[in-house]
Amino acid sequence: MEKDYQIVKMEKQKHIALIAHDNRKQDLIEWVKSKKEILHRHFLCGTGTTAKLISEYAGLPVKAYHSGPLGGDQQIGARIAEGEIDFMIFFWDPLSAQPHDPDVKALLRISALYDIPVATNPSTADFLLSSPLMDEEYDRHIIDYAKRMKRRTEDFSKGNLSEF
Ligand code: PGA
Repeated sequence: MEKDYQIVKMEKQKHIALIAHDNRKQDLIEWVKSKKEILHRHFLCGTGTTAKLISEYAGLPVKAYHSGPLGGDQQIGARIAEGEIDFMIFFWDPLSAQPHDPDVKALLRISALYDIPVATNPSTADFLLSSPLMDEEYDRHIIDYAKRMKRRTEDFSKGNLSEF
């Protein structure tokens, strides 16, 4: 089947979301401090508590969304879908269940769907930030929904609604 992809350009200055579950917040703060020279060249945002702690302890401006359990993960997912966030560092806790686990899963799904770089631990985050692509434009490959929607509505009118 023909692939319906469109190219979305990431600018040199990335829009980076920073999120850490409670048991990982210290790790993220330490990591951000160690990468301050690189991170200050980009736009940072994050879930409420994480954003506030990073601003305070790492001294970088971070736009704060709601706290994760109060809908912050969903807000960040929506910004990814809208193309306003194109990079994510998300230190989620692999040892504790979260009240907002469905939101966490949704956020990771939307990140995969929109082809954005995601690091879920410090080593991956180190590799990502040391990439020369951090200072370059980059073409992400996004599913072309308009094209798919058109095909599906045409299929529907023929009585055969195809899968997305
Ligand atoms: P927080 O949310 O930064 O407000 O703690 C993080 C999360 O649990 O998703």
